[in-house]
Amino acid sequence: MSTRFAPSPTGLLHLGHAYAAKFAYDLAKEEEVDFLLRFEDIDTTRVRPEYYLEIEKDLTWLGLDWDGTPLRQTDRFTAYNRAMEELKSRQLVYPCFCTRREIQDEIAAMAGAPQGPEGPLYPGTCCSLTNGQAEERISAGEPHCWRLNASEAGKQTGQLTFCDRIRGVVEVDPTLLGDVILARRDIATSYHIAVVVDDAMQQITDVTRGEDLLASTHVHRLLQELLGYPEPVYHHHRLILDANGVRLAKRDDPMSIRTLRELGHSPEEVMEMISD
Ligand code: GLU
Repeated sequence: MSTRFAPSPTGLLHLGHAYAAKFAYDLAKEEEVDFLLRFEDIDTTRVRPEYYLEIEKDLTWLGLDWDGTPLRQTDRFTAYNRAMEELKSRQLVYPCFCTRREIQDEIAAMAGAPQGPEGPLYPGTCCSLTNGQAEERISAGEPHCWRLNASEAGKQTGQLTFCDRIRGVVEVDPTLLGDVILARRDIATSYHIAVVVDDAMQQITDVTRGEDLLASTHVHRLLQELLGYPEPVYHHHRLILDANGVRLAKRDDPMSIRTLRELGHSPEEVMEMISD
């Protein structure tokens, strides 16, 4: 039984992260469960080694102590591969050889290309390749990622729901994000696979995170069901915005916890800045 804070060590923590960490921490204390720290570091091209320690330092300064040893997703590729192999063996994913350019051209040429919450979705081009064609291209060394066959997956699971503490019971739309990439061509896994595998392994009972990830939860719930994992309860909380109403990003150094600390603010003052 636990909650978790799962930052990517690609930059300093800012007020938005402090809010997310405090949210998970408070819930863990309230429910008397563990508060775990997980470094989502699979995107090794963007990770910088110094940020692991910086993040731990900031959390400690804020008084948000975690239980146990922090998990690093870069230590977990074997588990992610295992989950992918399972999905491959059940034909729930397919290899996609399309370049970004080819996808854009295909979408432009289509009347009524499928739309997701953040723009057009992958139009499904490689889904129609036969197993033989796909295997031939893989053997020839053609770069490829692996995509979820969302409609097939949805058929196999039947109607699903997830429980969000703010929104109540939400019906899962398996195709909301379309045939999303589950294994990237460069790193052979993805946020979606890693988060679902680790939430199950770490026995996360309450997933708390920003409401920008609400659409991803549809995919996560589907993957949990396909892989036989338990269903956590979700809490998608608000995002901290800057003075212009724009969501904070890693580049917002003035709002970083380190800068605020160096400016002489106390942890209590920082917490006050993000109080509800
Ligand atoms: N690593 C994600 C972030 O920093 C959190 C993902 C999650 O909580 O599922 O926004």
